[in-house]
Amino acid sequence: MLSAFFVNFCILVTFTSAGSLTFTGDDRHHLLRRLLRYLISASAGIVLVLYGVPLGEGVRVDFRSVPVLLAGLFGGLLPALGVALPIMVYRLWMGGAGAPAGVLSIVLVALLASALHRRFARNRLTWQDVWVPFTVFACSNLSLLAVPGSGSQLFRSTYLLLVGLQSLAALVAFGVISLRFSTVGHTSTLQDIAYLDALTSLHNRRRFDEDLPTLNLESNAFLLLLDLDHFKHINDSYGHPFGDQVLRELAGLLQEGVRGTDRVYRVGGEEFGVLLQQTSPAGAEVVAERLRARVQAQLAQRVGRPDLSITISVGLTPCGSEPAETVRRADALLYQAKRAGRNRVMAAS
Ligand code: GH3
Ligand code: MG
Ligand code: MG
Repeated sequence: MLSAFFVNFCILVTFTSAGSLTFTGDDRHHLLRRLLRYLISASAGIVLVLYGVPLGEGVRVDFRSVPVLLAGLFGGLLPALGVALPIMVYRLWMGGAGAPAGVLSIVLVALLASALHRRFARNRLTWQDVWVPFTVFACSNLSLLAVPGSGSQLFRSTYLLLVGLQSLAALVAFGVISLRFSTVGHTSTLQDIAYLDALTSLHNRRRFDEDLPTLNLESNAFLLLLDLDHFKHINDSYGHPFGDQVLRELAGLLQEGVRGTDRVYRVGGEEFGVLLQQTSPAGAEVVAERLRARVQAQLAQRVGRPDLSITISVGLTPCGSEPAETVRRADALLYQAKRAGRNRVMAAS
């Protein structure tokens, strides 16, 4: 009997591993991915029944309740019933004296698990959740009493063993899913880090290079390329840590000075890019001039040295269909602003 349980256990782990791959982050809006997960869960339940352990005339036990438990805990009532229904139909179709009790047990699991859904809705699992499968299966296996004839005898001889084995199998399934959650979490953190600048927490050059080609004349987008004036002198005179503080404060000033739909990037050492969307040429010039003026008026104060003059020069150009050309034009305008005396905006005419 234990070897049959072992086969059932291996089926459960295989299906749980496959189903866990459908977790790729927040999937509240990914209906297809969730449907696939519940399809895998329901298939798991059916295969588990198929390879179930016969206990007597028409009575068989297996880990079919575990996918229902997981669907209820992580998805709620509807997914739990969606997974449970095909398993129940299949179990009824197989027939036997234990079929109604088996169906009753699955319904109980679906109801109890979805009652605990709120606790798991954020896809978090901790050691404090160990009691969950034990409690759910302790209740659902009371259905053994409903097996006609030898019901109470069957209950006495197998109840504890069944609750124990199902709960342990569920804990292993929890482990598989937990591992997947943590992998997905780490991947998302690393993705965020890969697109952020470590010093200023702005979007970085990688993000800039990916975003720029998505904008063109139709999106009425503009590129502002800004560069701190005489920054080498600031570094040399007041030290590199002070220079870093200037960069951080400048990032804050730029971020505060644009709309939520615009994006600010640190594209190089002391060079920043701003992508403005759905803006008119005049509007873009207003933004560029406002940023320049704010930096002149506030940046030195924000780094605790109001006596200093810290300014930026800006090149402003519409985003064309060729990203490299857009950057080249903005860079040329920025260079013109530098040559014209710095602390100014140079826009494409
Ligand atoms: P210009 O007005 O022509 O732009 O002159 P500049 O001195 O700003 O330009 P230059 O290219 O000569 O110097 C840029 C300086 O920016 C040199 C470099 O040390 C400094 N820099 C680049 N990245 C960082 C950084 O992450 N932190 C600090 N503190 N300084 C940086
Ligand atoms: Mg500079
Ligand atoms: Mg520079």
